[in-house]
Amino acid sequence: MFKKILIANRGEIALRIIRAAKDLDIKTVAVYSKADVDSLHTQLADERVCIGPAPASESYLNIPQIISAAIITECDAIHPGYGFLAENATFAEICIEHNIAFIGPSPDVITSMGNKIEAKVLMKKAGVPIVPGSLEAVSSIAEIKKIIQQIRYPVIIKAAAGGGGKGMRIIEDSSQLEPMLNAARLEAEKAFKDSSLYIERYIHEPRHIEVQILADNYGNVIHLGERECSIQSRHQKLIEESPAVNLDPKIKQKMCEIAVKAAKSVKYKSAGTIEFLFDSKKKDFYFIEMNTRIQVEHPVTELVTGMDLVKLQIQLAAGEKLKLAQKDVVVSGHAIECRINAADPDNNFAPSPGKIESLHLPGGPGVRLDTHIYAGYTIPPNYDALIAKLITYGHDRKEAMARMRRALSEFIVNGIKTTVPFHQKILNNKLFIKGEIHTHFLNYMDKK
Ligand code: ADP
Repeated sequence: MFKKILIANRGEIALRIIRAAKDLDIKTVAVYSKADVDSLHTQLADERVCIGPAPASESYLNIPQIISAAIITECDAIHPGYGFLAENATFAEICIEHNIAFIGPSPDVITSMGNKIEAKVLMKKAGVPIVPGSLEAVSSIAEIKKIIQQIRYPVIIKAAAGGGGKGMRIIEDSSQLEPMLNAARLEAEKAFKDSSLYIERYIHEPRHIEVQILADNYGNVIHLGERECSIQSRHQKLIEESPAVNLDPKIKQKMCEIAVKAAKSVKYKSAGTIEFLFDSKKKDFYFIEMNTRIQVEHPVTELVTGMDLVKLQIQLAAGEKLKLAQKDVVVSGHAIECRINAADPDNNFAPSPGKIESLHLPGGPGVRLDTHIYAGYTIPPNYDALIAKLITYGHDRKEAMARMRRALSEFIVNGIKTTVPFHQKILNNKLFIKGEIHTHFLNYMDKK
């Protein structure tokens, strides 16, 4: 097993990794930017190294600084968390070249799954259903029109290197084609320095359902059931739950089996997620992408399976065999996660960084809170707005929702705006309570 892990991240996920390492009796090294001197991860780790100024490009994305920090502190592994360098194959390769284990899959799998076109081609070959559309990067309008003749409007243009909902445009008819294509190209170039785009059928009000996978270095792959992530704003997840609500068990079973097949086909190792869109009317589902890292929403799976995914990720990276067979995985009860952001729901979710003057955090039966905030902490304006993940567990969805309403009412932050009131509105919405949800739910929420 590893002796010391460097955590190449910040915020709640850095704390989550420190906690898993502590449970495994492994020492930890935090890296931090100058904006994060007072951050909790720097205080809870055994050692800390400043890796640069506030901008992520000069600190949390600064590979030479991070590798140097790992070498100086004699770390034998690096955990990248999510975001930043988590899906950067070059970083994974450099870690390995320096004899430092990268806690994640192999660099070549990160590369092939990181390109969404290549991922779709590989999945199609493996017999996984994919959204109909182009299987190559598109360039000319004539070429795109030809594809649209087959798949028909509406269509969605997406960035091959995409992530975080960037570089995506929905096109309803031919008049929008050219301007939308240009806008998507510019956005993709800016966000990913890669302007390649692809096109696929736009599925009407789909549900986003994903399957958690665990794979060891010896070809053993299991799934830990599915997560429902349909409550989104601008293609970004806000609330996740497990298991998926109102979903035929036969479809669930098929989705999970296909996810295992998908992971096996690319010889996947570590924890990963296969994301699908589910067309509720046709009862069909399609692969959209694979995330080769731990995800923000992993705690809902942990609560319904009783497993510690980050610990397992570390153990698998250290070469341990999966101790569990598929039949040993039991999903029981229901878990819901609300992503609490420092943002103003009454002002188009404008970021709301600043000092937390005072704070009361929820607790009690069935409540888990993953957060790095504390009273007196100043949220820097430089990073993601996520300040806490509030997760509740119940014997069934009704109990998990009741506990979430209770926990949200106890979550009191003074000094900044948060999305707590917004989550309260969703948790009291009749359609949400009935489980009638899809990715456009927010457009309907205020009407019913
Ligand atoms: P990203 O990696 O940028 O998050 P994804 O491919 O995972 O992009 O898609 C994010 C979200 O965008 C999905 O959960 C869904 O809401 C929407 N989306 C993506 N592709 C389609 C599609 N073909 N039809 C309808 N919605 C889509």
